[in-house]
Amino acid sequence: MSLPIDGAQKTLRECVTLSGTGVHSGKPVTMIIGPADADTGILFSRTDMVGRNNFDIAAVRSAVASTRRCMVLGDPNGVYVSTVEHLLASLSALGVDNALIEIDGAEVPVMDGSAVAFVEAIDNAGLMVQSARRRFIKVVKPVRVKIDDAFAEFRPHEGAHNGRRLEIEIDYACGVIGRQMLAIDLTAHSFRRDIARARTFGHMKDVERLWEAGLALGSSLENTIVIGEDAIVNPEGLRWADEFVRHKVLDVIGDLALAGAPIIGLYRSYKGGHKLNAEALGMLLSRKDAFEMVTAPAAGARKRGLKALGDSRGKSRGEALPGILAPAFAPDVS
Ligand SMILES: [Zn+2]
Repeated sequence: MSLPIDGAQKTLRECVTLSGTGVHSGKPVTMIIGPADADTGILFSRTDMVGRNNFDIAAVRSAVASTRRCMVLGDPNGVYVSTVEHLLASLSALGVDNALIEIDGAEVPVMDGSAVAFVEAIDNAGLMVQSARRRFIKVVKPVRVKIDDAFAEFRPHEGAHNGRRLEIEIDYACGVIGRQMLAIDLTAHSFRRDIARARTFGHMKDVERLWEAGLALGSSLENTIVIGEDAIVNPEGLRWADEFVRHKVLDVIGDLALAGAPIIGLYRSYKGGHKLNAEALGMLLSRKDAFEMVTAPAAGARKRGLKALGDSRGKSRGEALPGILAPAFAPDVS
């Protein structure tokens, strides 16, 4: 199994089409996920808005428009795309650096509430190696944010596999979820095996309230684990006993993909969510002394792995990718 730390940038070999329903809008939507040039990053294009001045949205931290219920990217012209996190997680974990996602609506389809359909789509397209080297954000100093009793932090880490480690803990008052913790070294393999199939979840009382407010119109037992008074409502039950924290890890991977480059470091969070993830990432990227941009070594040096990444070549302290340091144009609303 190839590791995403592999040094060459990659894109999709061909286009794949995915159709489904937006979990919040309830509307049908079709996406075409296809190749993009090296150094493009992940770019959404709202094909239903062609004719407007700007209908492209880059998947970067500075494009975060809202973190309420899901990750929403957009620009001040009013062009948005929401619920991007499971797709971005799949692209990031499977090592896709550059992709163009043409979408004919405002919301990425929810599919079954997990990342399975996106992983399958990427596998169907296949990956293509590009000539440009991959760049990484290497955490060199701890960065921590706190919201009430929740916290998140980045720490330097060069452990097993590729140095992308997540330690995520959730603590819900409801007994069905309770306290769950998952620590994982993120690789394409661990993502496929342990994370990709974990579904979105919500409490029945919240779903009913959202429906009354005209929200979550596309949510159903087909794409959401629904938690009742003291049990799971879905007849098929859970895919893992701790599917909830696994889904939180999926969300973290998608949210952190907005860094625009893989992050070498440990990310820990307690009681986290999209808002906390976005704030922690924004804090890291604003702290130029807390990270270094490192460029993957050329193909001949690839076997040297992280040691090569840690040496002085290709390293520039605090130099960020274009567009990732600007603050979000709109405050988080949750
Ligand atoms: Zn999610």
